[in-house]
Amino acid sequence: MQEIINSQKEFFITNATRSISFRISILKDLKRVLQQNEKVLSDAIYLDFNKSEFETFLTEFGFLYIEIDEAIKKIKKWSAKKSVSSSLINFPSKNYIVPEPLGVTLVISAWNYPYQLALAPAIASIAAGNTVVIKPSEVAIHSSKALRKVISENFNSDHLAVVEGGIEETSELIHSKFDKIFFTGSTQVGKIVYQAAAENLIPVTLELGGKSPAILTEDCHLKRSIQRLVWGKFLNAGQTCVAPDYVLVHQSLKNEFLKGIKEEIIFRKYAVENQNFTKIVSVKHTQRLASLLENQEIVFGGNYHIENRDFEPTLIVNPTWDSAIMQEEIFGPILPVLFYDDFNAALQLIKTKEKPLAAYLFTENSKYKSQFLSELSFGGGCINEVIMHLVNGNFGFGGVGASGIGAYHGYEGFKTFSHFKSILEKPTFFEIHLRYSQYSNRKLKWIKKILNWSKYF
Ligand code: NAD
Repeated sequence: MQEIINSQKEFFITNATRSISFRISILKDLKRVLQQNEKVLSDAIYLDFNKSEFETFLTEFGFLYIEIDEAIKKIKKWSAKKSVSSSLINFPSKNYIVPEPLGVTLVISAWNYPYQLALAPAIASIAAGNTVVIKPSEVAIHSSKALRKVISENFNSDHLAVVEGGIEETSELIHSKFDKIFFTGSTQVGKIVYQAAAENLIPVTLELGGKSPAILTEDCHLKRSIQRLVWGKFLNAGQTCVAPDYVLVHQSLKNEFLKGIKEEIIFRKYAVENQNFTKIVSVKHTQRLASLLENQEIVFGGNYHIENRDFEPTLIVNPTWDSAIMQEEIFGPILPVLFYDDFNAALQLIKTKEKPLAAYLFTENSKYKSQFLSELSFGGGCINEVIMHLVNGNFGFGGVGASGIGAYHGYEGFKTFSHFKSILEKPTFFEIHLRYSQYSNRKLKWIKKILNWSKYF
């Protein structure tokens, strides 16, 4: 690992990665290599999750191609020097901001979307002119191996490398002298990464998790809300950081909602044998999900097979807030349903919890919409939709508070992996001598006058 880091440091100072055409050519290569290896990479995901080709394309390759195309199209604009206006105090001068790469960057990713979470930050880092070491999660072991093989066979490790490993290897990496660490994973491990990075004052982006709520108000379009909620909750068998973790439903909709959501789940024919429903990533994770069902009122599903890593879409109602299922992020196909009478009380309840990565509101009422936007703090979200806010390169994606620090996707990703130098450039033909010694009251008066005038410019 240290050899790779050192070779990347040497490569970075050759200035090769600063060339825009170099960055574009690597991004084009990456897209080509992914396209050529879609089958190998999809097969590996299948071994990890039994994930259908359809979902793999939608949530992994399709997403990455959009990110690459966007970066290639906009990289020149993003990396250009940007002029800003000057101030009277600095007259005459040119003022501009110069983006520059940070250097050797580390991307540590989670297992639930093994390629997307490893490569989307890497794309942003390459676009910004850095070198990248990727450390995928060891939990999705086949995908991690496939990614390392494909990248190492097609890219120079001085510039882009994949290092495999678990806690021990990641610990060594986070204590190494990178110029940036980008981490995707749990809040708990995020804290470990943050602490380690602090030793070397390494800037960190933390893409973490949390319990993302969905709220259905009494006037929502119930059929559409259920359809979208079910899709977002059971996509990847609920193993999605922005999946609706639990749903708060207005009391008046109780019977209609429960009937409708069961019908929708049945209609979608979620079953592993249909290649339509993803497996849980490991036996240990399946056991954890099973334990979350203890003492809960299951109104739909609830069957699982631990050794096979199968878990049915499951609905529970009215869990208490001190139960494990309401204390930890579920990250699986179990949807707790809670009922409320008063929208304000529902918002108040969410406000007492850690700030979530996402929040979703299903309503036709503009008052509820504006309250949701102005009162609740969360990373990002949707009104009358779930998850799809991720698929807009004009949005940054990231959490707030316990759900993360910083953002990426599109230009936000480029900014995350760049430093922006502020430059003041002055001509030499002219000088105002006021600031120089020797000081006098007359000079001070003039300075005060100029400072006062500057507000008009
Ligand atoms: P995790 O925190 O267990 O692991 C993430 C990475 O950290 C892995 O590469 C792992 O090898 C490494 N790691 C684990 N323990 C470590 C330790 N003690 N020291 C150093 N490194 C360690 O997370 P996970 O189980 O892979 O992923 C699930 C979590 O990730 C959920 O909380 C989910 O919400 C979150 N997540 C967030 C996003 C996002 O974009 N915000 C996306 C996906 C997943």
